[in-house]
Order: sequence, then structure tokens, then C-alpha cells
Amino acid sequence: MPTPPHAIGFTLDPLDRVSEKRDDEAFVAGLRDDPSTRFLLFVNNVPLFKRADGGHDPLFGVQEIAPLGAPAQTVFLGRDADQRALFAHSFDAEPPALPDVEAVELRPIAMQGLVAPPMVSALGEARSMLDWHRRHRFCANCGQPTDSAGAGWRRICPSCKAQHFPRVDPVVIMLVTDGERCLLGRQPQFLPGMYSALAGFVEPGETFEHAVYREVLEEAGIRCTDVHYYASQPWPFPSSLMIGCFARAASVEIVIDKNELEDARWFTRKDVAAMLDGTHEQGLSAPKPFAIAHHLLKAFAAGELD
Ligand SMILES: [Zn+2]
Repeated sequence: MPTPPHAIGFTLDPLDRVSEKRDDEAFVAGLRDDPSTRFLLFVNNVPLFKRADGGHDPLFGVQEIAPLGAPAQTVFLGRDADQRALFAHSFDAEPPALPDVEAVELRPIAMQGLVAPPMVSALGEARSMLDWHRRHRFCANCGQPTDSAGAGWRRICPSCKAQHFPRVDPVVIMLVTDGERCLLGRQPQFLPGMYSALAGFVEPGETFEHAVYREVLEEAGIRCTDVHYYASQPWPFPSSLMIGCFARAASVEIVIDKNELEDARWFTRKDVAAMLDGTHEQGLSAPKPFAIAHHLLKAFAAGELD
């Protein structure tokens, strides 16, 4: 198996999460008040950036956030290599305006490389956690309002005592090959001409392998075998984990599920290489290096699976 590259987006978590100390309230409060501590700020899932120097700086100091008042939610994300703590704060409504601060969606920030990759990973972690809090304010067991606990890493129901933990939704994304060709599809919402590896949510009771077999059969009518894990990618929109796999085709005739895909085809190594570097003669393209699909395709085009 080829070695997964570090260029996959959201995979360079720069933090020691110090998860064993999350229930130590004095420890967490001490970090929150420490002058070296820094904060990521979000309004309705959109991060704020300081634009004073024309860049996108997501880190705010204790003094800078003082005028904002109490956030709707706080999560302790961890400590960086210099032992500086990083917290995420969210506000439900626009906080008092800060000079030279702009709200920019995380997706374009990440795709366009406007922030260094480790900080993109921390922003992704923060976005997933804050979105989970926003959507889990009430107990799934009894319907009563819940409280944040464990430095923002769980919610507790004061009424029925149920504990609720942040969820991660596993998604398999697989490149099926028959040796010289690979199977790619396109969803109607893709950019014109773009094709990618097939993907789908893992269902309860399934292994990753079973999810790969089922999704490929459902979406493209292809039977496959020999599933191999390649690499994974946190995808914070809102909180998926992409599980990248290769699989070998056991049949060749494609039957497209039009509810899922607009098109699916076999592509040669030459096609894929041209799609990756933007030189395909019909203008077809593949996902950018930020996405794990790009790396599955690249490994195939380079002959690394042989
Ligand atoms: Zn409850």
C-alpha cells in the first residue's frame, strides 16, 4: 500500500488535547484565564479572522475577546507545542464588532490555503464541536435542556442524568480499480466536468468493507472485493470521518443509480493523470489535493497499487 501524504486537508492536528484533564475544572479555568491562551471565535459556525495585515489570523488573545462578553459555548481544544492553550468560543448572534475582523466560511479558507494546514485542522475540530453543541441542546432521551460539561466534550441532562457525547459520522470513500482502469462518478452538484471516487455513509451493523461493497453495488452496479484501507480524513461539514479505501472490481458493467449519481464511468490511468493535472482533453477534472479522493486517484495514476 502507498504511504498517505500529509497534504490531505484537516489531518494535521497541532494540539495535545489533554483529554485526561477535561473534567479538572480548576485546570481548565486556569488555562482559560492564562495570558498566553488563545481563542478561535465562531458566529453560527463561521470562524472570525483578524485581517489587519491582509492575512487571515484566527487566533485571538484574552484581552481581545474581553469586550465580547460570555460566549454561547466554549470548548477546550488542547495545547500546542509551546504549551499555549487553545479554546473555541461560539456566539449565536453577531458579537460587538471588532476592528479589522471578518467572518469567512471555513471551506474556502481551507480549500484556498488561506491559513496554515495545522491551524485549518484546529479550526475543523472547533467547527465540528461547536456545531454539535448547537444541534444538541436538548436531551435525546427525555427532551429537557442539557448542559455542557467536560470542558465542552460532552453534554449532561440534569433531568434524567443521561450523558451525550459528540458524534462522528463515518463515510467510506473508495477507489475501485480493475487493474488499468478505475471507477469514478459524478453527483449533480459537482463542478461541471468533475469526477470523483464513490462514497457513502457507513450504516449501523456494517464493517467498512461491507459499506464499500454495498455502496459501490448500489450506486454503480459493480461488485467489488479486496478492500484495503488507505488513510482517513476528518471532514468538519459538519462532522464526518472520510475512510479512504481501495477495492478491486469483480464485475465491469456499470448500472448507475440516478438518485445518487449523474454519471459513472471507467477511467484509464492516462485519463486520471490528465484530470489530476488539469490537462484532460475533454476538460474533465478531479478533486483538489485538499480532498482525500485526490490522493486515492494520484496513487492509482502513479501505479502505486500494483
Ligand atoms: Zn434527559
